Amino acid sequence: MSDIWQQTWGLQATNALPGLDLAWRTHWALLDIWTANQLSADELNLRTQNRLQQLVKHALHHSPYYAAYWRHAGLHELASLPPVTKTDLMQHFDDWCCDRRATRKAVDKFLQRPDSLGQAFLGRYAVWTSSGTTGEPGIFVQDDNALAVYDALQLARFRGLDLPSRLALHGFMHERTALVAATGGHFAGVSTSARLRSRYPWMAGSLKTISLMQPLSDLVQALNEFQPTHLATYPTAALVLAEEQQAGRLQINPTEIWTGGEQLSADMRKVIEAGFGCRVRNDYGASEAMSLGYECRHGQLHLHADWMILEPVDKNYQPVAPGEISHTVLLTNLANRLQPLVRYDLGDSIRMSTAACACGSRLPVFQVQGRSDDLLQLRNGRGSVVKILPLALETALEENAGLTRFQIIQTGADCLQVRLQDPQDRQVCEQVLTRYLQEQGITGLKIEHDRHPPQVEPRSGKLRRVLYRPAKARRPTRRPAPDMS
Ligand SMILES: [Zn+2]
Repeated sequence: MSDIWQQTWGLQATNALPGLDLAWRTHWALLDIWTANQLSADELNLRTQNRLQQLVKHALHHSPYYAAYWRHAGLHELASLPPVTKTDLMQHFDDWCCDRRATRKAVDKFLQRPDSLGQAFLGRYAVWTSSGTTGEPGIFVQDDNALAVYDALQLARFRGLDLPSRLALHGFMHERTALVAATGGHFAGVSTSARLRSRYPWMAGSLKTISLMQPLSDLVQALNEFQPTHLATYPTAALVLAEEQQAGRLQINPTEIWTGGEQLSADMRKVIEAGFGCRVRNDYGASEAMSLGYECRHGQLHLHADWMILEPVDKNYQPVAPGEISHTVLLTNLANRLQPLVRYDLGDSIRMSTAACACGSRLPVFQVQGRSDDLLQLRNGRGSVVKILPLALETALEENAGLTRFQIIQTGADCLQVRLQDPQDRQVCEQVLTRYLQEQGITGLKIEHDRHPPQVEPRSGKLRRVLYRPAKARRPTRRPAPDMS
């Protein structure tokens, strides 16, 4: 069966038009996604396979890294290509990129500019940084077509904007979205928020990034002043804010809470929904590709299978059957031609479902087990408990101490244990940790250094960087354990 749209009018045609405005590319992408939503499963698969062939061909001709890496590989099917890791790609950054101007040196120079957040690199690309679930730093450069696809996927699938009802876009103009996130780096969410505000000035008053790094009382005050209709944040932050709402200190009336970036368990969802009296919707994304899947109205996570391929695999990169939890997952991002990701080890565990969803979408349903760090509960000078959000603490250490492989373990009400890969980092770690916690009102904390390096989880092999393990309770966390239900 021929996919006429893909072959004649596909979004890839806009690659030949570097000057094409991003808003127009987003219109193309919306139309593309709308047509994809009408396709049968076979037609959808054909579209995906066509895109895959084009991406592989492009990488082979424009990325010296892939040309060398695939020299002896069979190119006839995806499974015959060897997987790639973040370490490999970062080491071969200049050869990996398909635009010879997008060197590591040029990207680093761009990132060091104080005004570069949300701005275009080389006039048309976005640069995102992340440590992801592996705790290893990564820099991902997205081309303008990829950005248009990501924006359109968000609008068309997560927000449910259907093409015939494009006027619904005007409804979005009355929304006020607060993104409560870690700041201080070029993370995908905050960077996208800055890009959208810069590109579409009418969004400036309706889309606000509020730093998660500030003390909770300041965060609550900022949200009370902004009065968002939608709150987007990490599950652990939503949980703490739901408690603030219940206590009456936070007084907002969101119509939906959007979560992402961490594991959202069924129990956490229940607590957050009860706290705010509205629905929680979860998104699954990564700095490598922005959104990989979206939660439909039936609460199921659907893969954007027309633009993303996910292969659940075991430790040896062998396929895992549907219904089984994978060790990791290989991502192929069909949207970004600048830094092709083909069978990239993403690090998350997923489980593909065989059951069709009641919403009627033909996009595959899956569950994911992502980042799962603990909330810390430390005592301040007045004897009250202060909750410390794991992602905020991790970001402070990454951005201000330059650390990535570490483990912070709360072992008592006033005691933290630190595990570092390199003992020489102890002083800078302690300084940054002390300063960050002081900003949250916590002083007189005992910081102990463990002589062991960070320990990965015995079962999953994953590194959890912030753990709540008070000696008395001997329970991993007050937060419900992640589930895959
Ligand atoms: Zn569904």
